[in-house]
Amino acid sequence: MSQLSGGNDVMVMEVGEALNPLAIARQQLDNVAERLNLNQSVYKLLRHPRRTVSVSVPVVMDDGSVQVFTGYRVHHNLFRGPAKGGIRYHPDVTLDEVSALAMWMTWKCALVDIPFGGAKGGVVCNPKEMSLGEQERMTRRLTSELMIILGPDKDIPAPDVNTNAQTMGWILDTYSMNVGHSVPSVVTGKPLAVGGSRGREEATGRGCVRTVLEALKHLEIEVEGVRVAVQGFGNVGRIAAGLMQGRRASIVAVSDSQGGIYNPNGLDVEKVAAYKAETGQVAGFPGADEVTNEEVLEVDCDVLIPAALENQITERNADRIRASVVAEGANGPTIPAADEILYDRGIFLIPDILANAGGVTVSYFEWVQGLMQFFWSEEEVNEKLRTVMRKAFHDTLEVSIREKVDMRVAAYLLAVSRTAEAGKTLGVYP
Ligand code: NAD
Repeated sequence: MSQLSGGNDVMVMEVGEALNPLAIARQQLDNVAERLNLNQSVYKLLRHPRRTVSVSVPVVMDDGSVQVFTGYRVHHNLFRGPAKGGIRYHPDVTLDEVSALAMWMTWKCALVDIPFGGAKGGVVCNPKEMSLGEQERMTRRLTSELMIILGPDKDIPAPDVNTNAQTMGWILDTYSMNVGHSVPSVVTGKPLAVGGSRGREEATGRGCVRTVLEALKHLEIEVEGVRVAVQGFGNVGRIAAGLMQGRRASIVAVSDSQGGIYNPNGLDVEKVAAYKAETGQVAGFPGADEVTNEEVLEVDCDVLIPAALENQITERNADRIRASVVAEGANGPTIPAADEILYDRGIFLIPDILANAGGVTVSYFEWVQGLMQFFWSEEEVNEKLRTVMRKAFHDTLEVSIREKVDMRVAAYLLAVSRTAEAGKTLGVYP
């Protein structure tokens, strides 16, 4: 419960808000604001999004009817640079969720020390029930509606749940058409053919695996033979599973929105990916037991990578997590009450703003390469990513040991203090 006093805008978390991502994000900020003795005006600013844009997105559907979708883009904070963050397409998108995700982007960029502020966008829709043409028209109209706040030095979107390099290509093209010239640096995570960065597609999973490797080293656990369970078999989860397998870890369970599969002797990630490409799901993969999404979190394993959506590890199942290391590939998969349980049980949790920061880090590299018009090899990108992730991990670990706090609080102490320092320097305008 938030204890910090300081005016009407300080919110105390009610029971009903326990799963509201924005209430959780604010509580996480409050937890460190007291410890950091944060400047009150900066603290108040950080609890609120800098700007929120809500748009109606009309789309001519394939059957000729018009459907109107709701879209959001939130800039949480711009103290450290232009707004940066993904756009997600999902039926459960809410303004509170997008606002929380934007706040988490602010902290993530500060933690890996790249010069961006936090943003996020979302459209309430089910892309799985939409044709590619309908998705394209929706993306292009969304971009037109958001034109006033987008730009390579204003707000640079990237892929998130159910959006990908193709989606970024449509945003880039629509933006460029509207301004009359090509502006590749308005998005990151775009296809290589139009100025994308080598290594971006795999960057979040690769960065996540780097933090797992550093954690295992710290805990003196040999990676070879380590048993890994991954919830979510999309961009982040699939890549992380493949790279862990490449390190001779054993991937014992994976899942997607349709359910999960388990094999204590290990799954062949490439074969599972091929099976999913063919059937649209991992469930039914030959030679594995079917498990539910909840059970995937609780299987006997050493490393658990939740890489799907928020609120997966709660006070209801935290007692049953068997992994020694939890690496949050997804944003917000663990609620604060579960954090405490995991910490008390001695489980080493690598928080989302650290574990999945590889994506925004290589997005930053992509943005830099685009502005320079000078592109790096995949080896260079991966090497630079490794350096950034390693430093962020060890900076966080050092604070965690020094302050005797878990890795999430340590990451927040670092990220919030860097952001607040920038805010203090800038002051309150006018
Ligand atoms: P994605 O759309 O590529 O994959 C999401 C996966 O999660 C899919 O396999 C989907 O089937 C599965 N899923 C959806 N609902 C589920 C449920 N209820 N239970 C289990 N699985 C479910 O998305 P992604 O880009 O891999 O993003 C996953 C998470 O990682 C999100 O929280 C996102 O915000 C975060 N993230 C992504 C990036 C990135 O670069 N893509 C960067 C940072 C953080």
